[in-house]
Amino acid sequence: MNWAAPFESNLAALADAGSLRRLSPRRGVDFSSNDYLGLADAPLLREAAGEALARGVPIGSCGSRLLRGNDPEIEALEAEAAAFFGDEATLFFSSGFAANTAFFATVPQRGDLVVHDALIHASVHDGMRLGRAETRAAAHQDVAAFDAVIADWRGQGGTGRVWIAVESLYSMDGDKTPLANFAALADRHEAMLVVDEAHATGVWGPLGRGLSAELPRADNRVILRTLGKALGCEGALLGMPRLLADFMVNRARPFIFSTAPSPLMAAIARAAIRSLEASERREQLHALVDHAAAKLAPIGVPATGSQILLRHVGGNARAVAMAEALQAQGFDVRAIRPPTVPQGTARLRISLTLNATPDDVDALAQGLGDLA
Ligand code: PMP
Repeated sequence: MNWAAPFESNLAALADAGSLRRLSPRRGVDFSSNDYLGLADAPLLREAAGEALARGVPIGSCGSRLLRGNDPEIEALEAEAAAFFGDEATLFFSSGFAANTAFFATVPQRGDLVVHDALIHASVHDGMRLGRAETRAAAHQDVAAFDAVIADWRGQGGTGRVWIAVESLYSMDGDKTPLANFAALADRHEAMLVVDEAHATGVWGPLGRGLSAELPRADNRVILRTLGKALGCEGALLGMPRLLADFMVNRARPFIFSTAPSPLMAAIARAAIRSLEASERREQLHALVDHAAAKLAPIGVPATGSQILLRHVGGNARAVAMAEALQAQGFDVRAIRPPTVPQGTARLRISLTLNATPDDVDALAQGLGDLA
């Protein structure tokens, strides 16, 4: 039996479309990671890890949360995170992908509607596919389009609960969401607003508590905060009403049937969250964002108001060639291609982190300008 044929032809089709991916090593100045605050390799977190090991925090959790995996370090992280971010309850997951999948697979019920941004993350799509609610896409960041989808669904007899799913800062477009308008929409429809703050946590909002922290408190919100980006760790925190946390503890299969995340990582994440009380790193990053916006806008990289900038290219092959040319000059810039982004919209994603200096940005601007 030729078991290989379908896989080979699938990969060949990707190669023909210029979409075949290969794992490649890190090289050059970091313009591609999500380590926005430069915490991943910071002494602050190394010391937290050493201190936690010294006081006996285990590396492995040794079981699922409902069995022996519920280490006190994990409960401490959840309690501290809930207090810092202002959530009624928080659950710690081993990744943002797992948290989103678990949530959308479990919480929206049969008869409900999930209306999601057309560019919502893959993990939300996978969760929705596992879940029982009806799902509909609405145009990117278009509140009126979300409104129309909900009205249409109600008009067709939909009577269940509505869940509105957005990201506060889109990872492949760098644009921030007008969250106040979405909160008002949720209120108007008595809907729940689910906000993925993966790329805003630690970077935006008061004390880096995310863009949703700029809104008045409300009990109809669920917020995903990932720890693997600005916080330099791994895992995710899902903030929500206690009722939903209790529901997930009882019903969310990826929570129930998976080994709990590492207690050591929970201890390090607590230190990362505490570090947000100091504003220096955030201010330094915001200054770098302003600097980069001024330097890069004239050469075809428009300001987005965030730390994620894009040089739109279009074709896959050209995007890859441009990224390779920049990599050869010592800049770790990556091409983003379909299916991560829609067909024909390949782009260079320039991620600003404290692992790059203003001088590095100037040199990148020079390199990009020369390519154009
Ligand atoms: N949501 C968004 C918007 C993301 O960009 C990502 C990571 N690419 C995730 C969720 C998943 O988070 P994690 O990397 O922790 O699995």
